[in-house]
Amino acid sequence: MRLEENIRRVTPYVPGEQPQQKVIKLNTNENPYPPAPGVERALKEMDDGRLRLYPDPEIRMLTESLAEYCQVKPEQIFVGVGSDDVLSMSFLTFFNSGKPILFPDITYSFYKVWAELYRIPYECCPLDEKMHLRKEDYCKENGGIIFPNPNAPTGIYESLDVIEEILKQNPDVIVIVDEAYIDFAGKPSAISLIDRYDNLLVTQTFSKSRSMAGMRIGFAAGNERLIRWLQDVKYSFNSYTMSYPAIVCGTEAVKDTEYFRKTTEKIVATREWSKEKLADLGFEFPDSSTNFIFAKHPKYDGEKLFQALKERQIYVRHWKQPEIAQYLRITVGTDEEMNQFFDTLEEIMKE
Ligand code: PMP
Repeated sequence: MRLEENIRRVTPYVPGEQPQQKVIKLNTNENPYPPAPGVERALKEMDDGRLRLYPDPEIRMLTESLAEYCQVKPEQIFVGVGSDDVLSMSFLTFFNSGKPILFPDITYSFYKVWAELYRIPYECCPLDEKMHLRKEDYCKENGGIIFPNPNAPTGIYESLDVIEEILKQNPDVIVIVDEAYIDFAGKPSAISLIDRYDNLLVTQTFSKSRSMAGMRIGFAAGNERLIRWLQDVKYSFNSYTMSYPAIVCGTEAVKDTEYFRKTTEKIVATREWSKEKLADLGFEFPDSSTNFIFAKHPKYDGEKLFQALKERQIYVRHWKQPEIAQYLRITVGTDEEMNQFFDTLEEIMKE
């Protein structure tokens, strides 16, 4: 018993499956298109002599290109090993008041895991009947706030007015807006607010819109002071979070704005026709501003559909949490993948 008492025991986050066999993989919101051509080139031409040396601890090259892309100062950018790394470090840095932090009840399930890992008290705020955030819920006393925008797994984007209202009501705590899916929204990022609100931190990732989930790059934008505090915590953990290949490839990806625009537009176009098709089949779903659609059918059980698709080598995401157990979260793939998905789905529904 003594031994167990000294262990930091946690219930870990469960990531979506990464099957080894070839399947149609619509379960972890990856991008179906390859990274920008410059990334492949950089990998081929990589000077492996550089692997002998430690990478730049300040990650200057990538930080500067991100600052230019976001139209902020390099001192307002923090880079990490995927946005999970940036978010986990942010929980540790910013949520220390002992008061409960707030996040939606239906959201990215990692928030709860980090809160428990770091022993941060938390309260979950229910979404409204249309699955939107209820901003009133974020006006009570709290130790910090975090939510994705667009939210996951609902796919719903909240306007910057809602975010500003929450920021104004909470001047003494940090509000983190997790914009993992913002590039598919065609709507403004909260990064435009960081000069006006010193309590705002916005995170983004290269895993979705930049097709680089395997490279692990994410970043935060915020007021210089917040970024310095995050850096202090990072340097207290590990000075060299970003590998040399990640720094070089990430920088190449940011430079190629044209490729980025083209691939995100393709995914948005596929998403829009997929919504029509799902509606024709009788599915119901909140209007997605992301690269996935969160859909349920009034006549077909969510878990059964999930299993039947999986047996036919089509992977989507399903959770057993009762409020959302009827839903499937379907990542938007290529047009061909979505056509195969719909052919199979129609077969299953006919059986
Ligand atoms: N936030 C949200 C809402 C996500 O869905 C994900 C992807 N699982 C992440 C953050 C983390 O993504 P990554 O660590 O690959 O940047």
